[in-house]
Amino acid sequence: MKKYIVFILIFITSACSNISPIETPAVVIEKEVTPVHVESPKATSSLDLVVDRIPFEKVPETKAVSDFCNKIEDKFLNYGWSHSFCDSFDWNHVRNSVLGDPLMWVVYGDEEAHKEEPRNMTLVMCGVHGDEITPIKFCFDILHYLYQTTHTEIGKQKLKDNLIVVVPIVSPDSFFKKRPTRTNARGVDVNRNFPTKDWNKSARKLWVSRYGKDKRRDPGKSSMSEPETLFQVNLIKRYNPTKIISVHAPLTLLDYDGPTMAHKHLHELGSSAESLLDQMSKMAKGYTVKNYPFFPGSLGNYAGNERNIPTITLELPSSDNRKHKEYWEQFKHSIDYAIFHSSLKKSNLVLSDKNNDIESSKKN
Ligand SMILES: [Zn+2]
Repeated sequence: MKKYIVFILIFITSACSNISPIETPAVVIEKEVTPVHVESPKATSSLDLVVDRIPFEKVPETKAVSDFCNKIEDKFLNYGWSHSFCDSFDWNHVRNSVLGDPLMWVVYGDEEAHKEEPRNMTLVMCGVHGDEITPIKFCFDILHYLYQTTHTEIGKQKLKDNLIVVVPIVSPDSFFKKRPTRTNARGVDVNRNFPTKDWNKSARKLWVSRYGKDKRRDPGKSSMSEPETLFQVNLIKRYNPTKIISVHAPLTLLDYDGPTMAHKHLHELGSSAESLLDQMSKMAKGYTVKNYPFFPGSLGNYAGNERNIPTITLELPSSDNRKHKEYWEQFKHSIDYAIFHSSLKKSNLVLSDKNNDIESSKKN
C-alpha cells in the first residue's frame, strides 16, 4: 500500500511539472559557501538605453538557414521562450553538423577592418552541450540585444572598435534530440574533442580511468573527429579572438582559462583578463569565480591554455527553461561589459598551426 501511494505521488509530481524533460547534468560540484557582499556597480553601459522597440525585420536567408530557423522557432515556442527572431539575423554558414543541420554564426562589426587592424574581438559560443538549454536561449538574448543596440547611433559607434561573433548552437544535433544530450549525434563530447597537445596521450586514457567510460564524456576516437569541433577551431583561426566567452550550465560559476597575472611573459594580458572576470562577477551580484580545471580536448585547454586567448566560461545555474529571463537579467551587464568595455591587450602569440580548412567562404 505504502509503495502504491509513493508511486501515485511520483506520478502526480511529474505530471504537474511543465518543465521540458531535461536531464539534469550529472556533474555536481560543491558550490562556494563564502557569502558574497559585493555591490553591483552602476551599469556603465548603454544597455539601459536599449529597449526592445526596434522591430525585428526578416532578412533573406538561404533555404538551409531558413529551414533551420523554423526548427529553432518551434523549439523556442515549445520551451515558452517566445519568438527567436532567428530569420532577422544575417547568418554565416559553411559546414553542417553530423545530421546535416547548419553550424551557423552571426558577425557584428567590420570583419575586413579587423583583418587590417585587429579590433577588440569577442567570440561567444553557446549550445556546445545540447542538454544545457538555457545557454542557447542566452545566446539568442545576446543576439537580440546586439540587434537592438546596433540599430542605434551609439551602437553603430561602438561597433567601430569591436567585432563580435555569436554562435548560439554549436551542437544542434544534441539540442534537437527528443531528449537533448550532452554529446553530439555520434556520442562525442565536443568539449573533449579539441586537438590539444595532451589529447593523444591522455584524453581516452582519462576517460577510462577517471570517468569509467562515461558516455557523456566520450572524447571521440581521435581529436577533431567531429564537425562541431572543426567548426569552433576554424572560427578561432578565422577571427583570432581577443577573448572567448563560452556559456554552459549548471555549475553556477565563472571560470577562466588563459594567461594570468602570474604568467611570465603575458603578465599584462593576464592581469586585465583577471580584472575583467572580477568585474563580470561584480556586475552579476557577485557571481562565484572558481578555477575549474581544463581537460584534454577542452576549449579552455585549446584556446586559453595553449593559445593564450583569455577564455571565460559562464556556467549558468541551471538548464531550467523557465529561468531564462532571470539569467539574462543577472548577466546582461556583465556580457555587455565583456564585449564592449574591455579591450584586452592582444596576445602576441599568434596561432602557429595554420590550417587550410578555415571557414573562409561567406554564405552558402
Ligand atoms: Zn557544458
